[in-house]
Amino acid sequence: MSGEVLDTAALISWPINRMESCLVVPSQREELIRIAPEREVVVNAANLVWMVPTEESVSKASRLAIETGDMAGLSRVDLDLLALSIGEKRTLVTDDYRLQNIAEKAGIDWITVSTDGISKLWEWELRCVACKKEFPNPHMPNKKKSDWGECTDCGSQLKLRKKK
Ligand SMILES: [Zn+2]
Repeated sequence: MSGEVLDTAALISWPINRMESCLVVPSQREELIRIAPEREVVVNAANLVWMVPTEESVSKASRLAIETGDMAGLSRVDLDLLALSIGEKRTLVTDDYRLQNIAEKAGIDWITVSTDGISKLWEWELRCVACKKEFPNPHMPNKKKSDWGECTDCGSQLKLRKKK
């Protein structure tokens, strides 16, 4: 099997030959250089296909991410990778549980870079840590994965957690 969409963890840990003909998004380059600058040479030498997802597939990916409640935990790179997998109908290689969850929902095959992955679908909920009021799931990817703002009722912190 080849031609999978690779997340940055795969770019960092997979051998150069295994990355042949795999798809990646241009927004990943910056992320890679930030996390593992020493890998840039390898990634440049690998025969990767750099591809921007279509607007249509980004919309579709966003819609699904909002539905599952995973949107809040996604970065722009995550959303682009997901959109590319959906648009090109390729297997997504990722250890990110949120991406696996949405891929599952989208009917896209996914494999892990190095972990076992999730066993079933889950949904997220955004709640106040103090009064437990539930808030709508955010509709945009987040820059910081932990900053969801404050409760409009009591001013306490909001936390994203798995729905039981
Ligand atoms: Zn509250």
